[in-house]
Amino acid sequence: MEVTFKVYRKEPGTQTQPGRSDYKIELGKDATVLDGLLKIRDELDGTLAFRASCMRGYCGDCTIRANGKSCFACTTRVSSLTQKSPEITVDPVRNMPVIKDLVSDWDTFLWNKIDRIHPWLEPPGTAANGETIIPDSVMADIRKAMSCYYCGLCDEGCTVLPVDFGFMGPAALTKAYRFVFDPRDTATRERFKYIEESKGLWDCVHCFEASEHCPRGIAPTERIMALRDKAFELGIQNPRAARHHYSFADSIKKSGVLDEGKLAVESEGLTNIRGLVRLLPTAARALRRGKAPIPYIHHKSPGAPQIRRIIEKAEEKHR
Ligand code: SF4
Repeated sequence: MEVTFKVYRKEPGTQTQPGRSDYKIELGKDATVLDGLLKIRDELDGTLAFRASCMRGYCGDCTIRANGKSCFACTTRVSSLTQKSPEITVDPVRNMPVIKDLVSDWDTFLWNKIDRIHPWLEPPGTAANGETIIPDSVMADIRKAMSCYYCGLCDEGCTVLPVDFGFMGPAALTKAYRFVFDPRDTATRERFKYIEESKGLWDCVHCFEASEHCPRGIAPTERIMALRDKAFELGIQNPRAARHHYSFADSIKKSGVLDEGKLAVESEGLTNIRGLVRLLPTAARALRRGKAPIPYIHHKSPGAPQIRRIIEKAEEKHR
């Protein structure tokens, strides 16, 4: 089949605006997007930069966007993208600074954030018999979190990162989960200091996009929520988090829908002028990206009365 790859191009170290190069190529019916990129690089344009490693959907190195959807280039068949048109747009993943073409800066995007959670086990010392026994069920859950291969798809789908790039993101927080819930780890409280700081644990907006995007079924959003529950269980107080939770519940109870503008302001605290000023760049970015339309009107859900009754019942149950 003949396909045209329309590939995002960016030259590092120049002022040139990013553009797109078109490559017409012939591919077999089972070819993947990565096969196409390799053919382009080998036969048409040796300057095209992209990353790939295991070639079998295991390492997450070739994460890209094809026709606007994030995927692994090595496991996405060209035929699945050309049913309507013989053209495929190929872009780098979102939320990541691009170095060149499809190669992004993973340090800023992910590795520096993972560094912040101190990603190593702090064991209690060696037991007399050299063993630490952990129940299978606990280990199975940790192993699931450990099966993350840092493909970055959860961060790519995250709805906070486009407006606040400093947010730690679901992949790094999933890494934190792996240690916090490991019974051998003795550094839980120290670890919470790193992850509950501003732009950490409490900044997730529970949109569940991270879990939707994870190809390993690791459920990063649920793990962030488990970290929050653990923080409460340990009595880790965070006034901003408490305000965030109160505002979240209040907005759902009143209108059936999360009022994100009100949530951001109330989480900072109405009298916290410095915090409110800090929100301004984020608000400007949200405006630019159409995430906060002007005039900002929060609409009520038609099912608001029903939602309110459900919340009141839940409140009664937990009183
Ligand atoms: S949690 Fe899932 S989506 Fe996120 S980096 Fe790990 S494997 Fe990829």
